Amino acid sequence: MNFVAWGGYTRLSAMRILGTIFAGLFGLVFGSFLNVCLSRWPEGESVVKPRSRCRACGRTLTWWENVPVVSWLALRGRCRICGAWIGARYVVVELAVGGGWGIACSRFFVHISDLPKFQNAAIVAALGSAIFSFILVGLAVLDAEHLWLPDLITYPAILLGLVYAATYEELAWHFDTPARPLRELLSRLLAALLAAALVLLIRWLYWLIRRKEGLGLGDVKLMAMLAAWLGLPGALLALFIGVVIGAGMGVTMLLMPKRNDEAWATRKLPLGTFLCIGGIVSSLWGQQIIATYLRWAGF
Ligand SMILES: [Zn+2]
Repeated sequence: MNFVAWGGYTRLSAMRILGTIFAGLFGLVFGSFLNVCLSRWPEGESVVKPRSRCRACGRTLTWWENVPVVSWLALRGRCRICGAWIGARYVVVELAVGGGWGIACSRFFVHISDLPKFQNAAIVAALGSAIFSFILVGLAVLDAEHLWLPDLITYPAILLGLVYAATYEELAWHFDTPARPLRELLSRLLAALLAAALVLLIRWLYWLIRRKEGLGLGDVKLMAMLAAWLGLPGALLALFIGVVIGAGMGVTMLLMPKRNDEAWATRKLPLGTFLCIGGIVSSLWGQQIIATYLRWAGF
């Protein structure tokens, strides 16, 4: 038995476990900050000042009421003094960013152990995955709560996705062909345009049939963003998952007992939120899902 290799292997798995836990905890803290932004930004408030307070009674929170996840669970999602429901979103966002960052770090260690030459590409992939999941969680919440996908996020995120794809191509380890970052950039740009055109087409067809707007322009930009980061197959998978979730939600709402209030009847489903969930699933497991599908379909 080769003890050196064995020792190296266990050291790497210990680093992987510790790194994953650390990245996950770091993600919880950033998820907590994202929550502050998501509550304050749409209201036009500063995201840095003042310190966190209860949005119902205005009381400044103590440090131990601000610990990600733990405080929410200990207080069962309510303000300690006024008892106002804080909302499940806080804990969901923290867990989503924490989970996303944990997985990104864990995969980084898998790639690093496979191919040492792949190191820089693995670092870029992990950072990209962390940034992308952070953006998607933020957009998902904004669309769910405000039906709003701000240009201030989608446009820079499209650009960031293109830069990410080109950088990864430059650093990825190629067997015999040279890296072609410019070609990758252009192909992702084309993918983004095609994805946007597809949603515009669906939007137009919907308008022809129903004579009302079914999809917002925010969804068009979101699809372009997904294609920039994931490529066209990954973005189409995200769209498919998003539509399935949306259809499921629509059917559930139809089956639920009717409510008479206006808000319920005219309620719009946040397609952007479902696309973001599809984007997260596609970025984490897209390659496996597409490969499984192609095998199953006999390609
Ligand atoms: Zn309160």
